[in-house]
Amino acid sequence: MQSDANPVEYAQKPAQEHAPLRTDVLIVGAGPVGLFAAFEAGVVGLSCQIVDALGRVGGQCVELYPDKPIYDIPAIPSCTARELVERLMQQCRPFDVPIHLDQRVMDVVQRDDGRWTVRTEQGMVFDAAAVMLAAGNGAFLPQRLMLPEAAALEERDVLYSVPRLADFAGKDVVVAGGGDSALDWALALRKVARRLTLVHRRSGFSATASSVESMKRAVAAGEMDFVVGMIGGLKAPGGTLQSIEIKQVEGVSERAADKLVVLYGLVADLGPIAGWGLDIRGGRIEVDTSNYESSRPGIFAVGDIANYPNKQKLILSGFHEASLALRKAYSYAYPEKKRVHVHSSYDTKLAERVQASATAAN
Ligand SMILES: Cc1cc2nc3c(=O)[nH]c(=O)nc-3n(C[C@H](O)[C@H](O)[C@H](O)COP(=O)(O)OP(=O)(O)OC[C@H]3O[C@@H](n4cnc5c(N)ncnc54)[C@H](O)[C@@H]3O)c2cc1C
Repeated sequence: MQSDANPVEYAQKPAQEHAPLRTDVLIVGAGPVGLFAAFEAGVVGLSCQIVDALGRVGGQCVELYPDKPIYDIPAIPSCTARELVERLMQQCRPFDVPIHLDQRVMDVVQRDDGRWTVRTEQGMVFDAAAVMLAAGNGAFLPQRLMLPEAAALEERDVLYSVPRLADFAGKDVVVAGGGDSALDWALALRKVARRLTLVHRRSGFSATASSVESMKRAVAAGEMDFVVGMIGGLKAPGGTLQSIEIKQVEGVSERAADKLVVLYGLVADLGPIAGWGLDIRGGRIEVDTSNYESSRPGIFAVGDIANYPNKQKLILSGFHEASLALRKAYSYAYPEKKRVHVHSSYDTKLAERVQASATAAN
């Protein structure tokens, strides 16, 4: 994924620990709704942790339309989707919420004491009084190359992200795709690769105009090649990629390749959450609209993943849902306490936190 260029990638890197992390609420998803839920958890008086399967925060806003303007966020007449995510990060900063990226939530088990043990595919374990699913359409996964010979080469020679530029130094590299990720990585990789070829099925791109211009300049300067076509086959004698076949209008051509980076975009997949025993219809979790709780008490669903009559997939709807869900979640974390409602404008502790956070940022 485009990592080093993105200003929204300032969240914490995933922790490598395996001991359970105890928290009042575990928020699954660092999209706009998950981030607002983290702020609201702090306001309500709950500790929380966030996990996201992606390597950066922002959900759909950052993955699908970062530079598009949004006009329907209350009191913000216009801002880009990326700016909205930056503002949400700023808003929850006073609560210093740990964000664990590259962590895909897999399974949940309710213990005898009513708390939840939640595990990620990467080995993190959480012990939470309540679970807030703000997982959008599910975890984003890379769209894979549909060639039978690709599977055996994945993770070594056929890749869906660029973990370290140094691994491509001096190699023949092919990047496949026509969006922002494909163009940005092609431009970055051309500086270390022996030869860089960008392959896209058509001559038009879905990337930002400035990236397309930079790519065309690099091709004109002989710094990289661009081929219109589709990846038709991989040749890997002895299990090591040597060349790729490109299907073009004029026939099939072959190009030397040590590494193939496929950046065809992301697909969302509800994945393991579908097996959590929740009432799921049409890929969405059915909730009670008085508190956005799912059919399993203690597990909440907010934002795009939630479903109820007349549900609108809007960011502002998700904010409202998170706010009500957290008030109910409080009763699981502190069953013995009655939550005292204070408007944020009268919350002196919140005012001190916001002030301290602003001072630290300056
Ligand atoms: C092109 C476009 C334009 C839009 N314009 C507007 C607009 O103008 N106004 C508006 O209000 N809305 C708009 N929307 C809709 C808006 O973006 C969504 O309603 C919003 O992003 C939903 O937020 P969310 O936090 O619920 O989910 P998402 O933004 O989808 O975030 C969910 C996050 O959960 C993570 N996740 C999922 N499953 C797991 C798992 N198992 N483990 C860990 N992490 C997981 C995902 O990786 C993702 O980061 C637009 C959408 C699109 C596509």
